Amino acid sequence: MARANKYIVLPANPELVAQLPDDFQFAGDFCQRLEAVFGFAEAGRIIAELSQKTISSYWLNDLQIESEADKVLLLESLKAHLGGSLGVSVPMVSDLYSVARDAAISQHASAESGQIYIQNPASYFAVSILDPQTDEEILDLAAAPGGKTLAIAARMNNTGRLAAVEPIRSRFFRMQANLQRCGVTNVEFYQRDGRSVGRAVPERFDRVLLDAPCSSESRMNWLDASTYQHWSPRKVKETQRKQKSLIRSAYAALKPGGILLYCTCSFGPDENELVVASLLKKTDAQIMPITECPSNSMPGLTRWLGKKMNEDLDLTLRVMPAGPWDGFYVAKIFKPIA
Ligand code: SAM
Repeated sequence: MARANKYIVLPANPELVAQLPDDFQFAGDFCQRLEAVFGFAEAGRIIAELSQKTISSYWLNDLQIESEADKVLLLESLKAHLGGSLGVSVPMVSDLYSVARDAAISQHASAESGQIYIQNPASYFAVSILDPQTDEEILDLAAAPGGKTLAIAARMNNTGRLAAVEPIRSRFFRMQANLQRCGVTNVEFYQRDGRSVGRAVPERFDRVLLDAPCSSESRMNWLDASTYQHWSPRKVKETQRKQKSLIRSAYAALKPGGILLYCTCSFGPDENELVVASLLKKTDAQIMPITECPSNSMPGLTRWLGKKMNEDLDLTLRVMPAGPWDGFYVAKIFKPIA
């Protein structure tokens, strides 16, 4: 029997639903959204792509490489491990090399020592849009396990000050260990709820990253039930409430003239455009264009379910999963000087 659905008006497309596992209770709702965002053909491609991730990517972490001589040795050792080359440089994020997953890059000693960091192009690209500068004060408001914090620290060459916030104890300690292992020395750690940070330190930071807790739709893998069983339309709404409050806190913590980067690894507008739209409505925030975009991307939506949203949302970016890229959404936001 069809379930009542108060979020989406179109019926679920049976051809899309058939691609999903039988034990995904909300497969219909998930497919409806995906089709409403991307259209039938692209939604079908994305659903297939999610279970076919065969490529990893990594970058060289200069914070943990002491000299040019060490770098030469590392490059030789990586090439030997990977069968003669470092991998393929990823377009748009040329510091990243993509390699076949079965090349087992994670088993190279440099992954453990922090001399290389395995990271999806989506994460690395988000940090390049944030564009951290040396000697700045930067807030990472939802930071664990710290992959983007590390990419920020590397761009700052361990100068300035980085504040990394994470409320969940186990994730907080994992992040600390991860960043220490990778040679980050310009970070201070705060185990607290990001929603209270803006009130505690208003207009403090040059840049703020909010890589928001989300329903992680682009991390779903139909071969692993733990990656999709948490998903339901109700959970998406709950998550959206938290995201709206986190983005207000992130914006409050930003200096006038500063830049806030909001991103998630979910596909739907509920966790993306609608969250950014709520900030635009309540504050003087302005969306900035993202000038260089990967070919597997499209502008943010300005209409959802027949309703018009802020036109500037088309300056935000939705990246579709393809090759080494996980899917994600990103908005670059400017706080005007009054
Ligand atoms: N930026 C991280 C990275 O690149 O490694 C990933 C961040 S993950 C998408 C979102 C994080 O937000 C999770 O670690 C989650 O525990 C944390 N989180 C959940 N609720 C939060 C809150 N109220 N305030 C701050 N962070 C929160």
